[in-house]
Amino acid sequence: MPRRLIDARFSSEDDHFHDECGVFGVFRNAGASALTALGLHALQHRGQEAAGIVSCDRGSFRIERHMGLVGDNFTSQDVIARLRGDCAIGHNRYSTTGEPALHNVQPLFAETAMGGFAVAHNGNITNARKVREALRSSGSIFQSTSDTEVLIHLLATSAKATFIERFVDAIRQLEGAFALVAMTAQMMIGCRDALGIRPLVIGDYEGSFVFASETCALDIIGARFVRDVEPGELVIVSDRGLESLRPFPDRPDRFCVFEYVYFARPDSTVGGRNVYDVRKAIGRELAREAPALADVVVPVPDSGTPAAIGFAEGSNLPFDLGIIRNHYVGRTFIEPSDQIRHMGVKLKHNANRNILAGKRVALVDDSIVRGTTSLKIVEMVREAGAAEVHMRIASPPTTDSCFYGVDTPEKSKLIAARMSVEELARYIRVDSLAYLSIDGLYRAAGADGRDAVAPRYCDACFTGEYPTPLTDREMHEPHAQLSFLEKA
Ligand code: AMP
Repeated sequence: MPRRLIDARFSSEDDHFHDECGVFGVFRNAGASALTALGLHALQHRGQEAAGIVSCDRGSFRIERHMGLVGDNFTSQDVIARLRGDCAIGHNRYSTTGEPALHNVQPLFAETAMGGFAVAHNGNITNARKVREALRSSGSIFQSTSDTEVLIHLLATSAKATFIERFVDAIRQLEGAFALVAMTAQMMIGCRDALGIRPLVIGDYEGSFVFASETCALDIIGARFVRDVEPGELVIVSDRGLESLRPFPDRPDRFCVFEYVYFARPDSTVGGRNVYDVRKAIGRELAREAPALADVVVPVPDSGTPAAIGFAEGSNLPFDLGIIRNHYVGRTFIEPSDQIRHMGVKLKHNANRNILAGKRVALVDDSIVRGTTSLKIVEMVREAGAAEVHMRIASPPTTDSCFYGVDTPEKSKLIAARMSVEELARYIRVDSLAYLSIDGLYRAAGADGRDAVAPRYCDACFTGEYPTPLTDREMHEPHAQLSFLEKA
C-alpha cells in the first residue's frame, strides 16, 4: 500500500506519532506541582486529549497521567498533594488518531542506570520509527507507541559516561521537531531541536526556573519571561544555576510559522514576537493584497478574530461579531471523527443575524484545512441573510501535511491540495475567496518576504518544503512527492 505510513496512523503501531502538545516545568519551588497544573491549564489549547505531571521529591518521583482536560484532573488538592516535591514537569497532548491510550500520555518516565528520568515532548520525531526498529532489533522493549520513547532508550543505551553526554548523544540521533522538558533528581533540562521548530521559553518564578511552551503559561503563575531556549540549545538548570550547551552544528532557525497563524495563543510571545500583533499584521497584509467590497468584516471566532481586526483596520471597514461562538465546546478540529467534526461546527458557532442580514460580508478565518468549517460557516452566514460573502484566509493555502507536531490530515484530505482557489470558492459557495500570499505572511511575521534560498520559518504546510529529512515517511512511502531542502 503506497500510503501505508499515513494510513498507519490509524493502526496501533503509528497511531501516536502525530501529536500537538504543550510542555511546562518548574525547578525547585515548594509549589512545583500546583504551578505546573496552572501552566498546563494555560497551555490547554496545545493539546486536549490528556495531561500528565511528574514531580520529584528528593530523588523520589511521583507520576499522575490522565485522559482529559487539566481542569478536570489536576485541580483537586489530593492530586497535587500526591505530586510531592519541589520539581515538576508537565505535558498536555492531543494525538490525532487511534485509541486514546494512557501508556502514551506524557511525561514519560523511566528508571535508568543513571537514575529516574522524566521527559515531556512537543513536536514530532521524524525518524522515530527507524530508530525504534534498530533499538528493538538489539533488544529494547518499548512501553508505548510514542515517538518520544526512543529518546529514553537512546539515553539508556548510550555508551557515553555522564548523563548529559548521554542526553546529547541521544538527541543528536533524532530528526524532526522537539521542544523537550526533561527532569532527573538533580536537574531540569529544556532543549530545542537545531531548527527550533517548536517554541520553548525560560521564566523566573520567585527565583525558581520555569520552562514553558509559550509565555501565556508564565503569565498565569506570575513568572517573569527570561528568554527563549534558543534553537539548538540545551539549557540545564540545577543547584549550580543555568548552563547552556550547543550540541548541534549551527544552522539557520526555522521556527514554525503556523504557530503565528493558528497554533499559539494570541497573548503569547513566541519566537520573539507577540502572536496577536503578528495576526493583526497578517490581517492588514491581507487587506492590502486582497481587499473586499464589503460592508462589514466578520471573524470566524476565535481563530480568525485578530486577523479580522487587522483586515478591518487595513480596509477601513467596520468590524463586527457576526458569528458568536459557544465557549463551552472545544476546538472543532480537536474532535476525532469526521461525523463529530461536522456537528462540531454548529455546536460551536451561531450567526448573529442583526449584523449579517442584507450586508456584504468579508468573512475572515485563519486557515482552511478540510474545508468543513468554511462550508458550514458560509451556509450559516447566508441563511442569516448576508447579501454577499467574501472569504479571506489569513494564511496561504494549506497544501501539505505537518510532520513536526501540528496535527494536519494527510495531503489528500487537505482541500487546498485538491482544488484551485476558484474551485474552492464555488465549493464553499462564496462570492469571492482569497488567501494571503506566502510573502505577505512572512512580512507580517517580520521578514522582508520569503527568501526562497533560506526561508526564515518552517512553512512546509504551505510550501511542501520540509526543512528536515522525513526518514520514516520516506522509508514507508518512498514514492511520495516530498521536497526536502537541506540547508547548510
Ligand atoms: P476545517 O474544517 O478542517 O477546514 O478546519 C479549519 C479550521 O480549523 C480553521 O478555522 C482553523 O481555525 C482550525 N485549524 C487549522 N489548523 C488546525 C490544526 N492543526 N489543529 C486544530 N485546528 C486547526
